[in-house]
Amino acid sequence: MKEIYRFYKDTEVLKFVTNIKCPYCGAEWQEEDVDKCGETFVLECEDCEKKFKMHFDAN
Ligand SMILES: [Zn+2]
Repeated sequence: MKEIYRFYKDTEVLKFVTNIKCPYCGAEWQEEDVDKCGETFVLECEDCEKKFKMHFDAN
């Protein structure tokens, strides 16, 4: 039986998730596809159902 070796460089991150924290109630969760530099996203907290803006920056 043949063998192959994979290394860390062979891995790919399929989805970037961003850790979110609600500014109203402090609930934390992860959001996908909100990592566009310099953009503002409107998110809604599932706990308190309040909407807030999230800014994403490179640093
Ligand atoms: Zn909340």
